[in-house]
Amino acid sequence: MVVFVGAGPGAEDLITVRGQRLLAQADIIVYAGSLVNPGLLDIKKQNCRVYNSAYMTLEEVLDVMIQGERDNKRVVRLHTGDPCLYGAVREQMDGLEKAGVAYEVCPGVSSFCGAAAALGAEYTLPGISQSVVITRMAGRTAVPQKESIKDFAAHQATMVVFLSTGMLPALAAELQAGGYASETPAAIVYKASWPDEKVLRCTVGTLADTARREGITKTALIVIGDILGGGYERSKLYDPTFGTEFRSAVKGEGTDGTDPE
Ligand code: SAH
Repeated sequence: MVVFVGAGPGAEDLITVRGQRLLAQADIIVYAGSLVNPGLLDIKKQNCRVYNSAYMTLEEVLDVMIQGERDNKRVVRLHTGDPCLYGAVREQMDGLEKAGVAYEVCPGVSSFCGAAAALGAEYTLPGISQSVVITRMAGRTAVPQKESIKDFAAHQATMVVFLSTGMLPALAAELQAGGYASETPAAIVYKASWPDEKVLRCTVGTLADTARREGITKTALIVIGDILGGGYERSKLYDPTFGTEFRSAVKGEGTDGTDPE
């Protein structure tokens, strides 16, 4: 059995309990060395074999995992954050399936959640935005035209932009072309939850200058939207005048169970 494990955003204690147990039991660990905190590997068994996938091709990673399974070893494929975002896991899963190797996924804390924690932000503020767009600028990996930053920006929903710290002038231009004012609040969260984390609050118009001034070129998320500003409406869920499945309304109105969690 191969298990894809989410390592969390960086801090060694932000992996799940299950992920930690899987790491401690693994005979083989293939980890994404460019972003996974190597301290997470401290709990590995003494005879565990460790591979850094930053130096490997897909074929080499698959060979290690498939051979490990044939040798009856416990294999962990450790990905940063949660494997479901920009993890290139699907091609590994397909390769395993082709070879008849079973796999499972153990989720992790994605860096976009780590960034919200660092900012003390709620991405879904009533009256401001109830949606989060997770996207990236096109790089070596193309982004479909229908998903351009400009088109997403037109929604004025909260945006979290991965893999784009090296392209901030272009990102800011696209955001503005889509309708975000240059004063729209934005933030750069560098290495969320790592010891050298940096949280830089700025605006769409000052994104590029802020990153340049701080020398940030990678391993950051860009958060954009009015949720980073001051205003919002309070929630219905905890409003005394609204009842829910668990609590009656104080004034007997609005018992429509709005937004039961
Ligand atoms: N699967 C990962 C994302 C991998 S793509 C996840 O769920 O977080 C790599 C990109 O994620 C980086 O370029 C950066 O944009 C972002 N990233 C990963 N870890 C980060 C962290 N601790 N702080 C800020 N951004 C991070």
